[in-house]
Amino acid sequence: MTAQILDGNDIAQKEMQTIKQSVEERQRQGLRAPGLAVILVGNDPASKLYVQKKRNACHAVGFHSQAHDYPADLPEDTLLNKIDELNDSAHIDGILVQLPLPSHISTEKVLERIAPHKDVDGFHPYNLGKLAQNQPGLRPCTPCGIMTLLSHTSVNLQGAQACMVGASRIVGRPMALELLNHEATISICHRFTKDVPYHVSKADILIVAVGQPQLVKGDWIKPGAVVIDVGINRLTDGRIVGDVDFEQAKSRAAWLTPVPGGVGPMTVVSLLKNTLMAAN
Ligand code: NAD
Repeated sequence: MTAQILDGNDIAQKEMQTIKQSVEERQRQGLRAPGLAVILVGNDPASKLYVQKKRNACHAVGFHSQAHDYPADLPEDTLLNKIDELNDSAHIDGILVQLPLPSHISTEKVLERIAPHKDVDGFHPYNLGKLAQNQPGLRPCTPCGIMTLLSHTSVNLQGAQACMVGASRIVGRPMALELLNHEATISICHRFTKDVPYHVSKADILIVAVGQPQLVKGDWIKPGAVVIDVGINRLTDGRIVGDVDFEQAKSRAAWLTPVPGGVGPMTVVSLLKNTLMAAN
């Protein structure tokens, strides 16, 4: 078997065209373009790159994008006051604070300060609660993007056996809830799971978000599975690889995401969709 590649760049480009048309339609109706404020604290190179990608995507679809960049020693109160100001702004529909934050700033305090209707990252407990209850709301971007990728495969989620490897707050947990909301049966693996290959081998749908290069080997994978690799790992030779051994997985899976160019672009497009939803 040779897996069909789920090309996130291609799917994201098409989604962005649709978002751009919605922005133009809003403007024809006399409404302003959706506005997204992106806050970056510190100089982490990966965070800077992600933020730049998000800002570029905003421009590409005609959103109003505000950049708020601060030094790493920004006092927590100053950040909270800026969020209050953006919560009250009539030009801003979405607020994103790039994570991770420096250790002197409480991530919980910051995420909970964002007004839930402007929480386009979907990390506020209100929105996570809505997801847990299978109610409409602003959903975390990476799982949302993965749901779009799955809709481009032939897999029927209802009753399917799914395995989520990784249980982080931003990917693994909300992803498992998305799958549950679509009536799949889920096993969730984490660093203390006793036999990860066993759980992986049962999965019709496998999603891996751990952050360990090529952790999942080809022979763990059930033949014909849909494999979504969220991991982004830079090797010492500079190559970027995922959490799944891509070459091995290609001959086992029916569908497979590449790294880069799989989940990453879908995360950005989900942020745009959330911002448009918040504006509407
Ligand atoms: P995290 O460090 O917050 O969580 C990692 C999870 O993996 C934890 O639940 C941990 O228990 C589990 N884990 C660790 N070792 C394990 C093992 N040997 N077996 C099974 N589970 C194990 O990570 P995160 O923020 O969810 O990110 C994971 C990866 O996904 C990273 O490489 C990150 O860069 C990438 N990521 C990509 C995107 C994207 O848009 N493509 C978005 C977010 C994260």
